[in-house]
Amino acid sequence: MIRKVSPHITQNEPLLFEISSPGKRAYQLPALDVPAADPAKVLGAANVRDEITGFPEVSEVELVRHFSRLSTWNYSIDLGMYPLGSCTMKYNPRINEQVAGFEGLAWAHPYQPESLSQGAMEIMARLEDALAEITGMDAVTLQPAAGAHGELTGILLVRAALTARGNPRKEILVPDSAHGTNPATAAMAGYAVESIKSNSQGMIDLDVLSRAVTEDVAALMVTNPNTLGIFEENIAHAAGILHGKGALLYMDGANMNALVGVTRPGDFGVDVMHLNLHKTFSTPHGGGGPGSGPVAVKKAIEPFLPVPRLRTEAGQWRFDFARPQSIGRVRAFYGNFGMMVRALAYILAYGGDGLAKATMDAVLNANYIRARLDAHYDLPHDAPTLHECVFSDSRQAARGVKTGDIAKRLIDYGFHPYTVSFPLIVHGAMMIEPTESESKHELDLFIDALISIAKEVEENPDQVLTAPHSTRIGRVDEVAAARKPVLRWHP
Ligand SMILES: *Cc1c(COP(=O)(O)O)cnc(C)c1O
Repeated sequence: MIRKVSPHITQNEPLLFEISSPGKRAYQLPALDVPAADPAKVLGAANVRDEITGFPEVSEVELVRHFSRLSTWNYSIDLGMYPLGSCTMKYNPRINEQVAGFEGLAWAHPYQPESLSQGAMEIMARLEDALAEITGMDAVTLQPAAGAHGELTGILLVRAALTARGNPRKEILVPDSAHGTNPATAAMAGYAVESIKSNSQGMIDLDVLSRAVTEDVAALMVTNPNTLGIFEENIAHAAGILHGKGALLYMDGANMNALVGVTRPGDFGVDVMHLNLHKTFSTPHGGGGPGSGPVAVKKAIEPFLPVPRLRTEAGQWRFDFARPQSIGRVRAFYGNFGMMVRALAYILAYGGDGLAKATMDAVLNANYIRARLDAHYDLPHDAPTLHECVFSDSRQAARGVKTGDIAKRLIDYGFHPYTVSFPLIVHGAMMIEPTESESKHELDLFIDALISIAKEVEENPDQVLTAPHSTRIGRVDEVAAARKPVLRWHP
């Protein structure tokens, strides 16, 4: 195949099959100096393949360059910002990776005896304490492996605590501004879900809530700050309403990066909550890597936490399994330990003041974007935001351009798209979360790109409707790609 463009910097890397040339090898082995065995005898004839048709044949350097070039197609946090709202795709300091890679930690084995795991157990205990302090809660389990897994654990704890009181109740209330995993979790834990409509400011409507809370309600599951990036100002009142009827308040704390060091859920009435270490507390996020969704609870719920729990005995850390009221294990072993190491390294390095500063910077960055884009995009809920802001495409939609088109055009400007069409309560949502990692310079580049796209929509909407123009593949049929993925190359 003859290349039409420079192969060195390219978005047009051919398939390995296309650069294949018969007889090329990426390895060289010395001549065999022992008698050759018959593979069919050693492995069984059924397991031996004489030939793989169309298998690519390339040299080592071609192989290395092919994959190196492909790797540059991966947009990453090391390349530029991820404005994905609700995801907190911030930069995580390299030092935390280094700490997690220390031999004694990275090679620790879950079957190692307790006597040889004291350091690892101390790390977990200190992290539990730090998270309890940050959230204002009394006890923490580190077992859940993701945010949604933390939610499920949390609601199972709600069920266990209410059951112990005599009645698990039937219903969980979920505001319409909640993250999608909230109603799914409630349903998985066996509860009926009732949606609570937000008021015009995008917050819980206390009158609606008061009417909805009955003796059948187990809990309110509230994402705070909610998916509009708005802090639920009446959260303490909401807690009072729930507690007055014997119900509990669950807080989805995946967005805790907007609150850390500034306010504590335990102080405003939350009974159970989860955190996403892979959002707020320094863990590479995305790509399906391991996550961690610790759950923090008030004292009354502590007996129900998953086993094992850490305790000390004669100055040694022990795992305590003798906890009769526990909901049991929610994960093999103790959770994703490497995430815990990173989180503790991050918390200790920043310290209380540093964590609060990170929160304030995240909020400042989001409000800067909101203020500068206000003249160009529609803001359906014009309340001050915390760590993210949500625009709608309604001005651009009048010219036929939707949130997904604007997002695709952003790729041409060198940015990863924002979160498209979520949260659902905003039609044509454009959800942007810059995080504290980004400098004013980077934010300005991003804002200027969006302003420029807004102008294009006025002057030449086709340019936006057909974007991206700079990539090997432009628009794909997303539904077909999801429904009929072609994962195999047929020669
Ligand atoms: C990300 C997120 C979740 C889910 O977390 P996972 O780790 O992806 O399961 C839940 N709630 C909110 C508000 C989130 O932002």
